[in-house]
Amino acid sequence: MAPLVIVDVDEVLALFMRGFERFIRTHGLEMRIDRFALFQNIYRPGEDQHLDVAAGRKLFDAFFRLDRHDIDVAPGAAEALQNLARQASVVILTNAPAESRPARARWLIENDLPYALVVGAGPKGRPVSALAQRTRGPVAFVDDLLPNLDSVAQEAPTVRTFQMVADHRLRPFAPCAPDRHPRLDEWSALGPAIAASLGI
Ligand SMILES: [Mg+2]
Repeated sequence: MAPLVIVDVDEVLALFMRGFERFIRTHGLEMRIDRFALFQNIYRPGEDQHLDVAAGRKLFDAFFRLDRHDIDVAPGAAEALQNLARQASVVILTNAPAESRPARARWLIENDLPYALVVGAGPKGRPVSALAQRTRGPVAFVDDLLPNLDSVAQEAPTVRTFQMVADHRLRPFAPCAPDRHPRLDEWSALGPAIAASLGI
């Protein structure tokens, strides 16, 4: 059975924070990255209290409602997955508003990431476990968020988990547990590590 690689999108394949930052600038707001959070980093220029979280979420939803997602691909992501896909199946598993699916699928195609797309919500343990049960081969999972990695470790303990944080500004703030989930923030190193974990 072919090995399977399950990969998150935002801050793994995609520089989401940068794209979202460009979007909020068009609304006269700015991003100050001083913690590992999304909404608590949005400020009105000159203010020292972040925007309230509900207003941040509204912006987030508006961003995902756009037909075209102005988000850069993480450096080396397409090449790394191309290499892995020679010997493994690849599935993209993203938590995003359901209505953003077409734009998300188009973004993947346009960035040379033409793999099966699963759009979900909530902790990723269950969907990863369901996907893993469909193959007898080894399975690897990549995400930026520690709760998702821990959720997978709990629900699907045989899956090899890897952490990757694509935006270098977020890296110092990202909670991690390298003893449980090897952390590799560059695809040039992550791709070969995934391949080695799958024996390919
Ligand atoms: Mg993510």
